[in-house]
Amino acid sequence: MFEIKERDALGRICKLYTKHGVITTPTVLPVINPHYMPILPREMKKIGAQAIITNAYIIYKSKIRQDALEKGVHRLINFSGPIMTDSGSFQMYQYGIDVDPIEIVEFQREIGSDIGTILDVFSADASFEEAKKEVNETIERAKKSTKIKGKMLLACTVQGGVYPELRRKCAKAMKKIDADIHPIGGVVPLMEKQKYRELVTAIIASKKEIPPSRPVHLFGAGHPLVFPIAVALGCDLFDSAAYIKYAKDGRMIFPEGTFRLEEKEELPCPCKICSKYDVKELLKMEKDERTRCIAYHNLYQTFVEMKKVREAIREGSLWEMVERYATNHPFLMDAMEVLKKQKKWLEKWERISKKRAFMYTGRYSFHRPIVYRFHKRLMERYSFSYSTSFLFEEKGKPFTSYLPIIKRLKANCIISSPLGFIPAELEDVYPVSQSVFPSSLDSESKRIVSNFNKKFMERFPQLTKKMPEKGNEQFDLQKVRAIADFQFGKGAGDALFNGEIKIIKSKKTGKIRNVYTNEKHVVSMRASDGFFTLKKEGGNLLHKAFLPPKLRIIIKEEAIPFVKKGKNVFAKFVLDCDEELRPYDEALMVSEDDELIAIGRCLMNREEMLSFEKGIAAKTREGC
Ligand SMILES: [Zn+2]
Repeated sequence: MFEIKERDALGRICKLYTKHGVITTPTVLPVINPHYMPILPREMKKIGAQAIITNAYIIYKSKIRQDALEKGVHRLINFSGPIMTDSGSFQMYQYGIDVDPIEIVEFQREIGSDIGTILDVFSADASFEEAKKEVNETIERAKKSTKIKGKMLLACTVQGGVYPELRRKCAKAMKKIDADIHPIGGVVPLMEKQKYRELVTAIIASKKEIPPSRPVHLFGAGHPLVFPIAVALGCDLFDSAAYIKYAKDGRMIFPEGTFRLEEKEELPCPCKICSKYDVKELLKMEKDERTRCIAYHNLYQTFVEMKKVREAIREGSLWEMVERYATNHPFLMDAMEVLKKQKKWLEKWERISKKRAFMYTGRYSFHRPIVYRFHKRLMERYSFSYSTSFLFEEKGKPFTSYLPIIKRLKANCIISSPLGFIPAELEDVYPVSQSVFPSSLDSESKRIVSNFNKKFMERFPQLTKKMPEKGNEQFDLQKVRAIADFQFGKGAGDALFNGEIKIIKSKKTGKIRNVYTNEKHVVSMRASDGFFTLKKEGGNLLHKAFLPPKLRIIIKEEAIPFVKKGKNVFAKFVLDCDEELRPYDEALMVSEDDELIAIGRCLMNREEMLSFEKGIAAKTREGC
């Protein structure tokens, strides 16, 4: 019922299938109060709402209960798309009301909710011991509730207050339960106090345990300010009561934050309200009418921001967006500090390369997982060819001014780039040449680069200040070997390019395009990111050179004949996979006995391949 279509960071564009239609995530579900609808659901649809959320507890406790049971919730609020219902956990926490946890789940099922929610125990500022008890109770209720969910998708909330270990414990227990969606609960008080550091810590702790194939809902997060960072950490669903809550209070949502109507002189927004009225006219309105107008604007801005997030995923610029938004609020900067300690985890989900160049935005940019990976792989996988090294200062990309010289020198040529010292052979690899930097970096980025440079030089041959002698005839071969090692692992260059090597270059650009070993086409170089695309023969050579599980995706018996013919590998047919493979890495598809079936490209990492039921795990290029 959940399928990845596109991805960037841990953010993903997915299809979530429900009884009343497909939801494209990430998205926001506007909260609807069945007793008060200043904006009708069908109007919301026009602004961008694909699904809405309403409170089953409010319906359950009021006069419309019978009506809901007879007509169903869709007719009750007159919305034909997917409806999620909440169970009243927040009301229970705030007003101490009481409702039976099983009865309320049954009620949601009876009124035809597409996604129902368990009645979890909300822990916000509870002590550790209290929160622990509440987590245990929530887990028990989730277990019981899944048994009666019927065909309704069931959202089982992860609680744990501000204690990451409790969040992890709760999520870990939820993993074993037949739940469909996992809200991260109890975060509204954090958001109201703008405790973004705690919010991000709670998301990370939960995401580390929640299976990647289950959508994650950040409960009560309706402020667009948190969308980019929450989506980048893998949140798929949001709900917004903020649009109406703020409107009642005369507050308007903008990408930079929330402002009171009186504070504004102009309304920089193209929505139909801001185009029609100015601030004075809005202030003169009757309160109800003004609330309706501001609520419309707030919802409009909310969906504009979500559309921007989805576009950022599609173009691979989500980290840039997260970094830019962090400067909108100092507390979001606190949240960025938390991410710096999570690079190892973040890197697992990061694509090999992106459609767009790496854009530097400031002091957070060098903490991106792609930089971490680049430095790590360089340290682990690159080997020098000579006993002396010569350092060039970068004079603009793609280092063309040096290349004629570098290619002939009998020394390891290192270019001092904004990303740090880079061997000349890797000049085309993402993000080296696909990056944009200002002429001067901030001090934090400079420190990261200088630490890396120091480590890099400690491991490798000493620098010479004297210009090395000319006579290197092998630079192109050196280059394809270095890229192969960097991309596939140490030893890949020797495995792929052993024998008579023919390197074909583009007549137009002079760049390497195809490489033949003993007259067999082994790899092509992609112009977009400087990495190799494996050919059948290349796959064979790597398969012989590397022991399992390296580079492999092990495919179930029943799918083998199809994959051999070139059909893609669906996640449900993956038995296991190399845990070092990253989204968009080249991969070898093999049988359980390690027979090479096909070569292709992953769309998922190992955890995702083993978790998803739906969707393509790897695209097959050629069957073997
Ligand atoms: Zn507006």
